[in-house]
Amino acid sequence: MIETKIKSTVRDVIDFPKPGIVFKDITPILKDPALCINITRELAEQLKGIEIDVVAGIESRGFLFGPALAQLLNVPFVPIRKVGKLPYKTVQQSYDLEYGKATIEVHEDALLKGQKVLIHDDLLATGGTVVAASKLIMQLGAEVTGYSFIIALDFLKGRLRLEPYTKQIFSLASY
Ligand code: AMP
Repeated sequence: MIETKIKSTVRDVIDFPKPGIVFKDITPILKDPALCINITRELAEQLKGIEIDVVAGIESRGFLFGPALAQLLNVPFVPIRKVGKLPYKTVQQSYDLEYGKATIEVHEDALLKGQKVLIHDDLLATGGTVVAASKLIMQLGAEVTGYSFIIALDFLKGRLRLEPYTKQIFSLASY
């Protein structure tokens, strides 16, 4: 089962990036090409029946599987990046992290009005990042149609913060 395989492959790093955080390091997954292909397929499988025009991935670990997922779904990929990285005109949102504060942004012409957007990231913790991403998408007149994660830290209750946007929230492994 993919959840067991993901859990046995991910490495827990204690007290990174600061004391009290158990960081789920997904880099060991990237060393296993068969697992990477399976993860991408399973992410796509969970999304069957959901209308998706675009996959938006969140920097930086949302860029590892987001483009492959978009390619499998045959839709465009849009990068949502930390502030200061995108070269063209952007819209921005600030938010709180499990460990600190951050601002993310997206190109102002990245989405068309009314497009249905799936937000992908490697991991759902408090949900702050994807709530900020959802606001960016709505600022551009597009619609959040689903959330897709490899891992969800359910004990942090991030899902509750996402449900006002859409209840289509998927993950492959939860803690
Ligand atoms: P949040 O906004 O709290 O849902 O945090 C999610 C973002 O922070 C994702 O981009 C994750 O990659 C990263 N993140 C937060 N907590 C962890 C953790 N315990 N292990 C790995 N990544 C994390």
